[in-house]
Amino acid sequence: MPELPDLTVYLEQLERRIVGQAVDDIRLASPFLLRTVTPSVADVQGKRVVSCSRIAKQLVIGLEDDLYMVLHLMISGRLQWRKAGAKVPARLGLAAFDFASGTLIFTEASKKKRASLRLVQGVEALQALNPGGLEVLGLSLPEFSAQLHASNHTLKRALTDQHVFAGIGNAYSDEILLRAGLSPFKRASVLKDDDVASLHAACISVLTEWTERLRAEAGDEFPKKVTAFHEAMAVHGKYRQPCPQCGKPVQRIAYAENESNYCAQCQTGGRMLADRSLSRLLKDNWPKRIEDLE
Ligand SMILES: [Zn+2]
Repeated sequence: MPELPDLTVYLEQLERRIVGQAVDDIRLASPFLLRTVTPSVADVQGKRVVSCSRIAKQLVIGLEDDLYMVLHLMISGRLQWRKAGAKVPARLGLAAFDFASGTLIFTEASKKKRASLRLVQGVEALQALNPGGLEVLGLSLPEFSAQLHASNHTLKRALTDQHVFAGIGNAYSDEILLRAGLSPFKRASVLKDDDVASLHAACISVLTEWTERLRAEAGDEFPKKVTAFHEAMAVHGKYRQPCPQCGKPVQRIAYAENESNYCAQCQTGGRMLADRSLSRLLKDNWPKRIEDLE
C-alpha cells in the first residue's frame, strides 16, 4: 500500500513527464476501475495537465477546465511509465493514460479490485473525496498534539486513519512508532506531552528520510519497486528479525490480511501483545477490513 513517501516520488516523476501535456486517451482495461459517471472519459480527452498533487493517499492529476483524475492505488495498485501507446498488461492492467511524452500504466497485483479512478469537475467535487486528515509534515507540535488528543483511537489507528492524519498507512506507522518508542495500542487521547513530542518528531523524521531514500533510489526513473516491505525498514515486515535498535526479535500482531510489527523491548516495556486479548480490547476500534486502513 503506497504511502506518503512512495506517493510523493510517484508525483514528482509524474509531474516532470505530464504537466503541460494533453491527455490523448484513457484506455480502461478493467470494468471496475472507473467509479464515476460524469464527467466522462471523453470529457477529459484532449485536456492538458496543469498539476499533480495528493489528497490523503489519492493521486490527483489536475487538468484544464477544473477537471481532475483521481487515482487511488489502495493496496496493490501501482504505476508504470512506458513509451507512448504501450499496451495495457494483460492480467494486472487496469488502464493506460496516453500522453505524447509516454503512457502511464495503472496496474493492480490482486484479484480483489480495490484500486479506483474517479473523474471529477470542480474543487468542491474534488474536496468531497478528501477524508480530512491533516498533513503531518505541515503541522507544528501544538497542532499535531491537538489533532492527536482529539482522537479516541489507539496510536496505530490514529496515525493510519485518513480522517485524522493524511498519507500514513500500516508500514510507516510501524516505523514511526518504533522510532518514538511507543506502543501501537496506547490511547492517543491521553498521550503525555513528552510522548506527543516524540511521536511528532518521529513522524517527521521517518516520512522525510523515507521520501529522500525513495527519491534517491528512483533517480531520474519512474519508481519501479514500490513495496510496503522495503528491506531497509526497521520493524515493518521484519517479524522475528532483530530490532535494529536493541537486537531483540521483532513481534507481530496479525489482523485482517495484514500484520503490524513492533519491538516489545523498545515499545511496550517488554510486554508481548496477544492477538486475542487485543481484538477484545479493540473490538470497535481496530479495523476489521484492510480497506479501512486505507
Ligand atoms: Zn527494539
